[in-house]
Parts: sequence; C-alpha cells; structure tokens
Amino acid sequence: MEKRKLGEQLVITVDKKKHLMKEVEGWENHIREVCIVNESGEVRMVFAKDLGILNEGGLLPCPFCGRYPEHRIDEFGGHQLFCDGESHYCSVGSFKTEQEAIDEWNKRA
Ligand SMILES: [Zn+2]
Repeated sequence: MEKRKLGEQLVITVDKKKHLMKEVEGWENHIREVCIVNESGEVRMVFAKDLGILNEGGLLPCPFCGRYPEHRIDEFGGHQLFCDGESHYCSVGSFKTEQEAIDEWNKRA
C-alpha cells in the first residue's frame, strides 16, 4: 500500500485506486485503520474515513449522485467545478486556479 500525506487528508491507494481519506479521532462505521508515513519516515497508525475514489483529475465523486464533477471557466476567468444532476445542483465557487477548486470540491464531497 502506498501512502502520502496531503494536509489533513490522505491519499491512499487501495486495489490500485486512489482513495481520499480524512484522518479522524476514533473508530466508528466506515472508518479504516491506515498506516501513514510522514516526510521524516516515521510510521504511525491512524483512523481514517474513506471519502471516496479519486478520478484521474484527483477529484472525488459528487456526494449526491456519485458522478465526477465538470470543470468550467466562468466569465471572470475563475475555475469552477459543478455537478448538474437531475435533482440537485452542486458546485464550489470560483477560484483562481483549478487546484484550489479541486481542493475545495474534495473538502465538500
Ligand atoms: Zn451530482
């Protein structure tokens, strides 16, 4: 298993798919115990909640329908990510860079 620390969110490869996980305090339903290695090589076990599988763009699926969001540039040149579903519209605001929009989307998903 490959581990990488990404702020308080962790990208962990399970069955060749990248899962975004969030470190949590203790064990409950849907929480996994994962092993993480920090930059100085220290290994520790943490509890993490599996937030979902990342696509090639590093995005989590929409929390309402499970599809991956679409990206667009708005009239002010900002980056937006949105899911225009049948019964919901889910989006993050406008960001200077696509990466900022991705980070925000993944926090909400
Ligand atoms: Zn959706």
